[in-house]
Amino acid sequence: MTGFSEFSRRSLDDREGFWSEQARLIDWKTPPVQVLDYSNPPFARWFVGGTTNLCHNAVDRHLKDRADQAALIFVSTETNEETTYTFRQLHAEVQRMAAALKDLGVQKGDRVLIYMPMIAEAAFAMLACTRIGALHSVVFGGFASVSLASRIDDATPKVIVSADAGSRSGKVVEYKPLLDAAIDLANHKPTAVLLVDRKLAAMKIVAGRDQLWGDLRQKHLNSTVECEWVDATHPSYTLYTSGTTGKPKGVQRDTGGYAVALAASMKHIFCAPLQGASGPAGETYFCTSDIGWVVGHSYIIYGPLIAGMATIMYEGLPTRPDAGVWWSLVEKYKVTVMFSAPTAVRVLKKQDPAFLKKYDLSSLRALFLAGEPLDEPTARWISESLGVPIIDNYWQTESGWPILTIANGVEKAPSKFGSPGVPMYGYDVKLIDENTGDELEGPDQKGVVAIEGPMPPGFMQTVWRDDARFVSTYWKSIPGKLVYNTFDWGVRDKDGYFFILGRTDDVINVAGHRLGTREIEESISSHPNVAEVAVVGVADALKGQVAMAFVVPKNAAVVADAAGALKLEGEIMKQVDGQLGAVARPARVRFVTVLPKTRSGKLLRRAIQAVCEGRDAGDLTTIEDPTALQQIRDVVAR
Ligand code: AMP
Repeated sequence: MTGFSEFSRRSLDDREGFWSEQARLIDWKTPPVQVLDYSNPPFARWFVGGTTNLCHNAVDRHLKDRADQAALIFVSTETNEETTYTFRQLHAEVQRMAAALKDLGVQKGDRVLIYMPMIAEAAFAMLACTRIGALHSVVFGGFASVSLASRIDDATPKVIVSADAGSRSGKVVEYKPLLDAAIDLANHKPTAVLLVDRKLAAMKIVAGRDQLWGDLRQKHLNSTVECEWVDATHPSYTLYTSGTTGKPKGVQRDTGGYAVALAASMKHIFCAPLQGASGPAGETYFCTSDIGWVVGHSYIIYGPLIAGMATIMYEGLPTRPDAGVWWSLVEKYKVTVMFSAPTAVRVLKKQDPAFLKKYDLSSLRALFLAGEPLDEPTARWISESLGVPIIDNYWQTESGWPILTIANGVEKAPSKFGSPGVPMYGYDVKLIDENTGDELEGPDQKGVVAIEGPMPPGFMQTVWRDDARFVSTYWKSIPGKLVYNTFDWGVRDKDGYFFILGRTDDVINVAGHRLGTREIEESISSHPNVAEVAVVGVADALKGQVAMAFVVPKNAAVVADAAGALKLEGEIMKQVDGQLGAVARPARVRFVTVLPKTRSGKLLRRAIQAVCEGRDAGDLTTIEDPTALQQIRDVVAR
């Protein structure tokens, strides 16, 4: 047994012993009395009786040893701003924001909805909330009024923090009119709206409700606001899951468990050199996600700061002003750990590879990628280009930190292309036969990825204000078992590495054969002229469903005429035939220049499927490029 599995095994055999050791990585006001209370499964309560504060752990505890070290580095290639806040300056800004929120009536337990672009004030607002024991509920800036309104009604915030506008690809994206419309639509009305005026767009101020951050900041320039010590189980935030339809699902997270889970992950998974409040000068972490997503919460804001690292908050595209911009930041700020998404890498893959050679990337130790399946060609390309390990990690909004990856901070282990890795400590990951509920123990058997409770620290506590939904959605979907369902298909090889085969809810059933869209995509993307692919199951009178593939070719010239398109379609079908069998062969392969995705890079499979089946495409507020769906319509109609 390797050291890693020993570490992992102990995390399950002696959960309390294991996590009480990890709990030492953070500061406590009063230490926990009971490490785990699992008397009411599936609800796990971690570090019961302990009191702590997330903001203290992210900011205040570093003042003693590294007050003048960089903490938050804000870079906008949209507005050409670049500002570094030291821990001391961050501490001051967060206190000003905390004082402003208190001024507006926010108290412990109140919700503050944050609807903001990627600017430093968004980080101040998040930290200010946890500082005073209020819950933040960050809503991705790309959401429009209807989605925002439903989240306002669910979170019922006392205050909303927002801004005049963001900017995307040089174009001003106004937030304020969308926010006003959302508040009009919502049943719940906040008592105040705190607005950051970036002077990008004129704002219509609603008298008596809207306040300017500039004014309140000035008023509270010298205010001090002490951290509110809260129970470890006190909720720190809610975050709505992406891509779901109907009523949004507010993932609720605790305080102590989350802080411990992030601190532990920084050490064991991200190999941060520092723990606790003291140590040598920190390093820089660059996570390219958005604060609207869980990755942004955990690894733009809390994780790196808890570890005493500087964190880069980036507003802009990976390709503006050119495709070297991220690498220029790696060089300038000596980034040691970078975290991004496969989509971003695929975007960069289409650009001139010379950009990767232009900068000194020697500080970089590893690139972590998550959020969607990492296909082998993309992984190989970036790994060869950067010359550092590419670490895939699989997790969900619900988990808050990686479920499957490689914990190189525990013991170095090889990655396998196409696999996010092995179960992390604290996660008792199983593969389950979805019909019988039986555990699949042997290698190479496909099953539902499920996790046996209790969930480790950092995992969602419940669905905000809906314990029943938490239990019924996640824990009751596998017959005869109280087990957490990830809704992902997976397979484990003989070495224990998992491979994620797509969502169970994106399953295709072709003539009685169950197939994951992901498997077919993987096969298609290994064709040399395929840049990206989406496969969906489409209703078919004969076979129940057939697979349809939409491909972005690397060289569009090849499919410029019908004969060329037919030839490439034939090649791709033959390849799938050869690799997976005729049953998985897509009925049609159609060529487009861009695929419909959310701004966080997730394929909108359901929307594509709806278009193919002549149905309404549903809620498209998160779509990155609306023309992408029109292309699907056009090629389907042909
Ligand atoms: P979200 O909660 O929006 O982050 O989405 C979580 C889902 O994204 C998971 O259930 C998976 O379907 C997918 N996902 C996340 N990370 C990975 C990964 N590394 N490999 C494959 N799928 C992933």
